[in-house]
Amino acid sequence: MSLISCLFCKIIAKEIPAGIVYEDEKVVAFKDIAPQAPTHILLVPREHARFVEELADKGVVGRIYKIAADLARENKIADSGYRIVVNHGRAAGQAVDHVHFHLLGGRDFSWPPG
Ligand code: AMP
Ligand code: ZN
Repeated sequence: MSLISCLFCKIIAKEIPAGIVYEDEKVVAFKDIAPQAPTHILLVPREHARFVEELADKGVVGRIYKIAADLARENKIADSGYRIVVNHGRAAGQAVDHVHFHLLGGRDFSWPPG
């Protein structure tokens, strides 16, 4: 998928509206349109890449984990527990080809995941 047709690039560029809850020069976080838990936020690097290993700036991954932890505290799910999920490829359920980190919390999760 090219950057021009990428849904998350369009959200980052504010060409498509989204419930943005955080942004800085490297990262944007917005509410998932079909939440799978009371808190379901997507964190994305501004840089377009399908997978983490394709990112030129891999340092952004550590930054995303720190921001996710801050958002977890803000959303009062830090103490109860939360999940950070990356679906890598089709079998794992990746539907959008711009690497994204799901921050999920506010309910109990089963293990192993479905
Ligand atoms: P994945 O299946 O891991 O690729 O996750 C893609 C996620 O993007 C899903 O949880 C969708 O609900 C979410 N999503 C799709 N379109 C939008 C949108 N326009 N705004 C916010 N989230 C979206
Ligand atoms: Zn993109």
